[in-house]
Amino acid sequence: MLEIRDLVCGYGTVTALKGLSLTVAEGQLVALVGANGAGKSTTLRAISGLVPARGGSIRFAGRDITGADPRTVLGHGIAHCPEGRRVFPQMSVAENLALGAYLRRDPAGVAADLARVYGEFPRLAERRRQMAGTLSGGEQQMLAIGRALMARPKLVLFDEPSLGLAPNIVERMFAVIRAICDAGTTVLLVEQNAFAALELCDDAYLLETGRIVLSGPGATLIADPHVRQAYLGG
Ligand code: ATP
Repeated sequence: MLEIRDLVCGYGTVTALKGLSLTVAEGQLVALVGANGAGKSTTLRAISGLVPARGGSIRFAGRDITGADPRTVLGHGIAHCPEGRRVFPQMSVAENLALGAYLRRDPAGVAADLARVYGEFPRLAERRRQMAGTLSGGEQQMLAIGRALMARPKLVLFDEPSLGLAPNIVERMFAVIRAICDAGTTVLLVEQNAFAALELCDDAYLLETGRIVLSGPGATLIADPHVRQAYLGG
């Protein structure tokens, strides 16, 4: 479904991705793990059209989307749930969710998806008129996930959904992400919490300083001596 080949991206004189290749098959939950600064967020930003490619290609569902702008990428069915719960704090929960569906022209489908999001996250339903900025961290992360789902994406990109959340909420977050995939949406998940991501995913890629150094089923990476030593505490 998603095929990235030899992707090169950077910021000014910094080259963040140095020829990255990865594929995500339809229906899979794929994890991209690696240390701080390895280039995980940049990979997601490049897919979304937020960072231009300096080389290589990105194909999605048979189309070349390299260099496409963010709105076009979203229109093709890729939603991005960015790092740091970027909800609109001065807008209500309901308004934030409506924004997720702004490109859609099927009001009945949007209403059905809204009901689904509220069903999955009852706290958001209870607080639908509340300003998003007044929600707890976990609730804001749920809102960011709900907003991405409102686009009814074929592929959803999650950037560090566990960041800064209490351990019991993190567990729930990962269960929600697995459920999203099991319900038919393909997922590319970026995480610094390598163990949780590798346990959750089907396939995984390990990124080190802009290059993929290891890939395979999550269970294989968990058992890998280098991964264990460098990312799982031995
Ligand atoms: P993190 O977990 O910290 O987000 P990451 O693996 O997602 O790490 P990226 O954010 O993709 O890493 O960063 C990759 C490299 O690009 C790093 O060297 C980082 O300093 C650099 N970088 C990221 N964003 C910018 C920016 N806006 N301007 C300049 N350099 C940047």
